Amino acid sequence: MSDYIVRATGANDAIRAFAIVSTDMVEEARSRHNTSPVVTAALGRMLSAGSMMGVMLKGDNDLVTLQVQGSGPMKGITVTANSKGQVKGFPNVAVVDLPPKNGKLDVGGAIDLGIMRVIKDMGLKEPYVGTVELQTGEIAEDLTYYYAVSEQIPSTVGLGVLMNKDNTVNCAGGFIVQLMPFTPEEVISQIEENLKDLPSVTDMLSAGKTPEEMLQTVLKGLDVEFMETYPAAFQCDCSRQRVIKSLASLGKEDMDDIIKDGKPVEVKCQFCNQAYEFTIDELKQFRRK
Ligand SMILES: [Zn+2]
Repeated sequence: MSDYIVRATGANDAIRAFAIVSTDMVEEARSRHNTSPVVTAALGRMLSAGSMMGVMLKGDNDLVTLQVQGSGPMKGITVTANSKGQVKGFPNVAVVDLPPKNGKLDVGGAIDLGIMRVIKDMGLKEPYVGTVELQTGEIAEDLTYYYAVSEQIPSTVGLGVLMNKDNTVNCAGGFIVQLMPFTPEEVISQIEENLKDLPSVTDMLSAGKTPEEMLQTVLKGLDVEFMETYPAAFQCDCSRQRVIKSLASLGKEDMDDIIKDGKPVEVKCQFCNQAYEFTIDELKQFRRK
C-alpha cells in the first residue's frame, strides 16, 4: 500500500477528518537521515501530521511548518509540508538512544519539555505563527493541545510509527479528527465513546487497516463520507541551483575562507541530507565580485 491521505466528513459536516498511511515516507526519512528508532518514531509522527496539515491548506503554494523544540537529547524536529501531501523534515539530533518506556519508544523523553510551533505561510506578508507548550512531547497530544489552544478547534489526533527489529519502519500513519463549531452534543459523546476502546494507530495499521478503515473506527456510528484522497510522500524541493544561490549569497570573506582551504566543498540539504559537491573553480565563480 503506497502512502496516501484520505479526507472525510462525518455527522453531516459537523466533523472533518483526515487519515494517512505514511510507511514509505517515514522509511525514506529514516534512511536519508540515518535516525535511531526513537528519532525515527518522533520524526515519523511529525511527518505524518505535517502531511495531513498540508492538505488542509487552501492555496496551491501554501506551506505549513511544524516544529518542536525540547530540552531532551533530540533537541528538536522541523517538518514542512505543501498542500499536495509532500513533506520534508529533519531532526536536530539523528541518533538518540533511550531505554523504552512502558515497552514503547520513549519519544516524550527524547524531546522532553519545550514548545510546539506551527507556521503557516499562505502568501501573505506575515506568516501565521502559533506556539504552545509541549504537554507530553509525544506529538499527538501536543498537536491536540495546539489545536485547542491556538486555533480553538477541538480535535483528536492519533499518530504512530512501528519499527521492525532491524530498525526499518514496519508501518506508520495517523489521523486528525476535528469538530466544527456547533457540533451537536450527542456527536461529541459518540466520539468520546469510540475513543475509549480505540486501538492504537500502529495496532490498526499492522492489522491491515487502511486510512479509510481507521476513520471508520474512530468515527463509528457517525456517517463517515469520504471526500478525496491525496498521494503522500517524503519529497524535498532542494536542487543544485538553489544551493548555488545560497553560496552566492555568502559574504566575500566567508567565501574567501572556503576557497583558501583549497578543497572541494560538500553542502548538504538540511531537510533531506542530499549532498551537493562544488570544486574550487566553481566556488570562485560564485564568489561575489
Ligand atoms: Zn533537500
